[in-house]
Amino acid sequence: MSTSAENLRDLHALHQRSKSLRDRLASGPKTLSARQAFLTKKRADLDATKEALKKLRVEIKNKENQVQSQRDRADDLRTKLNSVKKQAEYDAIRNEIAHTNQNASKLEDDVLELMQKVEGQETEIKAFEADTTKLAQEVEALAKDIADRASAAVTQLAELDSAIAQAEEIIPENQREQYVRNIKGRADDAMAQVDDGACHGCFVAVTPQMVNELINGNHLVFCKTCGRILYLAEQPVQNLRKVANRA
Ligand SMILES: [Zn+2]
Repeated sequence: MSTSAENLRDLHALHQRSKSLRDRLASGPKTLSARQAFLTKKRADLDATKEALKKLRVEIKNKENQVQSQRDRADDLRTKLNSVKKQAEYDAIRNEIAHTNQNASKLEDDVLELMQKVEGQETEIKAFEADTTKLAQEVEALAKDIADRASAAVTQLAELDSAIAQAEEIIPENQREQYVRNIKGRADDAMAQVDDGACHGCFVAVTPQMVNELINGNHLVFCKTCGRILYLAEQPVQNLRKVANRA
């Protein structure tokens, strides 16, 4: 076992897979709770619309009662008209009947208008309910999907963890603590390849001596600028030796 470029590359690839799996695991519940919040809001809106419809129906009932009482009043007045003797009183009652009928007509217009509103709201609520039901089904499917994926990811993570543990056997004992600290802190970002003579974590050039150490693969080499654990990019070692020798 050595800290060869190939071994370190494999180790880094495992850390990258582990990180992306963990990210996906973490993002699932966030996505779900956002959709659930949206559904809750939609349901609250639907309830509010239903409540408004109820109020509208009460308002119609009230207006209808008012129409009836105006019509009753007009009937009473017409009866009264039969027993009236004086012209002035007769005219006054006639006026009042006309006025009462006017009120009733106005109220009837209001009722008609409100009924049209109710019809519109009923259609709206139907569509709203269909939407909400569809959304609820989507959220339920999403929850199931996320749960399924999470349990698959947990299995995959366990497999990855054991593969990582195995791949980590190449880490020299005296560098293990430093390695663990780095991985803990930065996950897969704790490692970077060296390509074209530079660390690909921070893009600062590495020294020829570091390149030689990387080629020899006897221990971990850390970037002097960003502290990442370095490994050589996939390219012929011969060329690298030339680069190292030239400097
Ligand atoms: Zn660096």
